[in-house]
Amino acid sequence: MKETLMNRLSWPEYQDRVQREDATVFLPCGATEQHGPHLPLGTDHLLATAVAQGVARRVSGLVAPPLAYGYKSQPKCGGGQHFCGTTSLDAATLIGSVRDTIREFARHGARSIVVVNGHYENQWFLTEGIDLALREMDSACGTKVMRLEYWDFFTPPTLERIFPEGFPGYALEHAAVLETSMMLHYHPELVRLDRIPDDGPADFPPYDMYPPRTEWVPPSGVLSSARAATREKGDWMVEELTDRIARAVRAEFD
Ligand code: ZN
Ligand code: MN
Repeated sequence: MKETLMNRLSWPEYQDRVQREDATVFLPCGATEQHGPHLPLGTDHLLATAVAQGVARRVSGLVAPPLAYGYKSQPKCGGGQHFCGTTSLDAATLIGSVRDTIREFARHGARSIVVVNGHYENQWFLTEGIDLALREMDSACGTKVMRLEYWDFFTPPTLERIFPEGFPGYALEHAAVLETSMMLHYHPELVRLDRIPDDGPADFPPYDMYPPRTEWVPPSGVLSSARAATREKGDWMVEELTDRIARAVRAEFD
């Protein structure tokens, strides 16, 4: 099987893949952020990288090293900045990192780039980084960029199967059933099932306060319960995601 990780290739091998074979380059973007007592701080970038790698295998693509720090954790979707270990970037830093990496991949000859987001708060800053990179680049180089949040690829039947009692929404799914089940699929050795807390679901008012009201956030950092997470659910989710993202990549870039 072909290598899917950019950082394991030498530069001539990499050059051959992007210039001669026209390999799609995937840039996983995540965060270093608390995910409750049962999941690791790297959950968002570990999942984005694993999803990208699964798709890269299907389309003979290459996965670049992830952007492992993300935009500031928000109380309503990541628990907030008051947790030890949550290590976040100012928006300008994240935007600049995305802009620079994309411009570099294009300079290497990459004509198709996929930004795979695994951290809710990153979305608009990734969009801005992509936009600035394309504005700086010569449009004649023809590089196209796809941006996606992997969770948008779940179909309603899959969500109904995973959440028979109703889906709480992606924001409240922080460190809950989706991420825990997917981690049980990709990195089971990093999941501490015995430490899943009983907190949640969190109940937030329809506004934000600054400085943040940390008492609105469950002390464990989990925004809805992960108790219903299973490896089997992770298997269903990963199969559907990988398949549907690979189809989208082929549709846009082949
Ligand atoms: Zn997460
Ligand atoms: Mn996150």
